[in-house]
Amino acid sequence: MDVYGLIGSPVEHSLSPPMHEAAYEARSLDARYVTLEPDPDRIGEAVAGADAIGVAGLNVTVPFKQDVLPHVEPTATAEAVGAVNTITFGGDGAPEGHNTDVAGVVRAFEHHDVSIDGQSAVVVGAGGAGRAATYALADAGADTFVANRTVERAEELAADFSALGVDAGGLGALAERVPEADILVNATSVGMDAPDTSPVPADVLHGDLAVLDAVYSPLRTKLLRDAADAGAETVDGAWMLLYQGVAAFERWTGVDAPVAAMNEALRGRL
Ligand code: NAP
Repeated sequence: MDVYGLIGSPVEHSLSPPMHEAAYEARSLDARYVTLEPDPDRIGEAVAGADAIGVAGLNVTVPFKQDVLPHVEPTATAEAVGAVNTITFGGDGAPEGHNTDVAGVVRAFEHHDVSIDGQSAVVVGAGGAGRAATYALADAGADTFVANRTVERAEELAADFSALGVDAGGLGALAERVPEADILVNATSVGMDAPDTSPVPADVLHGDLAVLDAVYSPLRTKLLRDAADAGAETVDGAWMLLYQGVAAFERWTGVDAPVAAMNEALRGRL
């Protein structure tokens, strides 16, 4: 049996176990997915130990996505984003660190037939999800602007991605940028467990936008309700969560992911 795992803290309410176990069942794979909370001071040992005992693959979540970087060989994408959420073992050298949140953003839009290349995109938020979303959109060819409450953090992010031509500003810039944009991503935690709050004023939303909210609890955030009222395409946070899991599953197993079964397992828990 292959054992996969998620390291993070807390992990007890993670939606990854039911999503991945639904995939193993649908593809008749003899595998299990477990959640683990390693000692924060021993992350390197945790990764090496998982490798040594034959763990087949690890997901990494908050607060360890940056901490694992020195203990893996990051892909170019993971290195650029500065975070790893998926580790593969079994090569000759160090475990490989991937960032499938980037694929999660791109494939969530693809699923909704939203093209990115050549479009104008605004990302709100410059934390972990903001970095992944900004990289995903800019690398896929969108002219990307990142807005953040703490403007210095957005400027740092834009400087890190200067080769991709990312621009940055504060939340005040949304009033000017969103009306001109084709794509909007909320990568802040605004709206999480707070169904009446949104990071973007409703009156700047419009019918030519595609809006992805990374927040998935609740699924229909105020931002997505406002966006639907404005006639925009809406993509909820479960699509991003689903497709980062799909990308991890495919990387670990080399098998096409049973997307519908994973989606059903995920949405059944939300
Ligand atoms: P993070 O690194 O802690 O970043 C939080 C971001 O939210 C920062 O940009 C922060 O701005 C901003 N923020 C927080 N409170 C705010 C407020 N009151 N007003 C304006 N901005 C505020 O968190 P994260 O890991 O990026 O996660 C952000 C959200 O994305 C969470 O809800 C998380 O669940 C979700 N997420 C979803 C997925 C998915 O697959 N769907 C994946 C990853 C994350 P400052 O820099 O100014 O503090």
